[in-house]
Amino acid sequence: MSLLDLYVEHCGAEEVKLLRQMGEMLEGLRLVHVNSTRRGGGVAEILERLVPLQRELGIDSSWEVIEGDPDFFEVTKAFHNALQGRRQHVSDSMIAAYEAANLRNWTAMRDKLEDADFVFIHDPQPAMMASLSTARRGKWIWRCHIDASNPDRKVWRYLAGHVNHCDAAIFSLPDFAQPLDIPEFIIPPAIDPISPKNQYISPEECERVLESLGIDLKDPSHLVVQVSRFDRFKDPLGVIRACELALRRVGDLRLVLAGGGADDDPEGAAVLEEVNRCAERLPFVKVLLLPPDAHMAINSLQRSAQVVFQKSTKEGFGLTVSEALWKGKPVIGGDTGGIRLQVLNQITGYRVQTPEGASLRLVELLNNPRERERMGRAGRELVKEHFLITRLLRNHLSLMLALQA
Ligand code: UDP
Repeated sequence: MSLLDLYVEHCGAEEVKLLRQMGEMLEGLRLVHVNSTRRGGGVAEILERLVPLQRELGIDSSWEVIEGDPDFFEVTKAFHNALQGRRQHVSDSMIAAYEAANLRNWTAMRDKLEDADFVFIHDPQPAMMASLSTARRGKWIWRCHIDASNPDRKVWRYLAGHVNHCDAAIFSLPDFAQPLDIPEFIIPPAIDPISPKNQYISPEECERVLESLGIDLKDPSHLVVQVSRFDRFKDPLGVIRACELALRRVGDLRLVLAGGGADDDPEGAAVLEEVNRCAERLPFVKVLLLPPDAHMAINSLQRSAQVVFQKSTKEGFGLTVSEALWKGKPVIGGDTGGIRLQVLNQITGYRVQTPEGASLRLVELLNNPRERERMGRAGRELVKEHFLITRLLRNHLSLMLALQA
């Protein structure tokens, strides 16, 4: 049995057949993905699953990670924050650090990238490579995973100067598309239904995994979870506040905030400290710092929760939302970016603006198991229809075929 056959039960035999047919037209071509971390965050999560599928189709797909010093990741985090609309000072020396790191990485990767048939540059970190390339064979695509709907204009203009050297750009939502000289496409991200993070595991197995993390599912009986990097845009303090308010009404609940760092996110430690400080005085909150490969722990948490939060104030997509919906859980999500595609109000969960609003929705859901079940079923259907990796793979194949023509 081939890897793709394992997806038939989730997306159907026709879809797998179509993927194979499209793959045949791209067989043997060299595709290189470039991003800035192999572990942590949604981009790494997707590439880890997408590259083997592309290879399974006969495409010579590989994944390169650029290296940088702390100065570089300070700048790229500032770019990230600025693209997501936060006021951010970017000085000339920060730009110089960004450009120096890109130049260094370019020297190491140049031959491979110039020789590839397709290069996917993910997010701003390696974007400058597009303007460094002068003798490329293939088509270059900039893949923006960020909510760029309201970017800092100065930072956007700077990055666009590099991105315009690509042949196309992909955004996750039409709302994020920005003025560029190159064709733009919309492709939302997706989750892998057969990955260790999303595959079925039994309630007994979940209980065993959670027990090993010090979580007893029977006491208290309500489990509420948010899985996220420790990032202010994910609003972990808002989730704590929402649960603190809800606890007064429902009597008992446990909130688990599970997260880890990403190699390219230098702010994680400071945010984790803020969260720990806040959680210290609240015994119902458990902060779990997980290693990047804790897929079974995350799977078990999402599967065992009654309600899953993703209360972001900005969110490119939020794979964690589809991960929870796929496991039949209603999601209370921030009313922003990619969460709007996945949390359909009153259908797959509730979109909220404030911790107070979130707490009201949480109480409602905790008191109403039938609603939770109804939303959970709708959520799984939504993900099956729109947010599985087979659809993402198909979109990528279509784009490559179109650019090649
Ligand atoms: N994730 C993880 N461990 C953590 C925190 C997050 O494996 O400690 C995973 C999470 O399950 C999801 C991805 O990292 O698959 C995060 O992607 P998302 O799009 O939700 O957010 P991003 O981190 O890219 O902003």
